[in-house]
Amino acid sequence: MMLRGKNAIVTGSTSGIGLGIAEALAQAGCNVMMNGFGDAEEIEAERSRLETEYDVKVLYSSADMTDPPAIAFMIETARETFGAVEILVNNAGIQHVEPIETFPPEKWDAIIAINLSSAFHGIRAVIPDMKEHHFGRIINIASAHALVASPFKSAYVAAKHGIAGLTKTVALEVAEHGITVNAIAPGYVLTPLVEAQIPDTAKARGITEEEVKRDVLLAAQPTKQFVTVEQLGDLAVFLCGDSAASITGTILPVDGGWTAQ
Ligand code: NAD
Repeated sequence: MMLRGKNAIVTGSTSGIGLGIAEALAQAGCNVMMNGFGDAEEIEAERSRLETEYDVKVLYSSADMTDPPAIAFMIETARETFGAVEILVNNAGIQHVEPIETFPPEKWDAIIAINLSSAFHGIRAVIPDMKEHHFGRIINIASAHALVASPFKSAYVAAKHGIAGLTKTVALEVAEHGITVNAIAPGYVLTPLVEAQIPDTAKARGITEEEVKRDVLLAAQPTKQFVTVEQLGDLAVFLCGDSAASITGTILPVDGGWTAQ
């Protein structure tokens, strides 16, 4: 219960890594605002499960991360209900896999908006309160693709390299205010986002879906294991604690050795 009474927002937490981080924070005692898209009944079921299982307050916002006023409204709602927002996890993200010459411009815009600009809008809105309370934890979910590239993912790799730069810059700006800003850079996690890109990667590379899993995804990871959402949730909780007060401005790979190569 190391985070009992703290208040967190986790964007894109109706699925995959975000849901895992929301659950880990709730388990550590945090009140959490969930966000993301999906089936309304399923989202409500998850929201109330977390609330009952961990005896914390759990809210849900349907704010679209491409819409800056909606992001501001989500943060204002969390502030009003919780009193303050001490932890912001920028996790919402989408992917599109296609060669550069046919890459749809509207996909580029959506990926930059959701995977990069939403973090900017969220961070600038939570910093004043964090400064006032002299405590804050901002965690940006980047990717191994914040450090290295893969073909056919131009927008995603650009956005993730961008979030690495944003992480370092804001960390420097708020370093004396008890606020840390870090990025977690996961390797492949078997979430709906990765499942969905397997057919497109197969098409772009002219190989089968099984070959994509073996020769593209896990080939990048020396451990030959997918990273798990539980591992990422535990790291997020650690970064929110007092022991992590000196960890700031980092891009932390959790990638089974991928970026060591
Ligand atoms: P996912 O598809 O399971 O979840 C994405 C979440 O973002 C969902 O809750 C979805 O509703 C939400 N979302 C999408 N568009 C949104 C929008 N416009 N507004 C609000 N919410 C929106 O994906 P995931 O694999 O859990 O990915 C989460 C993050 O982790 C992403 O930033 C992704 O780039 C990053 N990541 C994933 C992997 C991986 O292997 N899965 C690896 C490295 C980094």
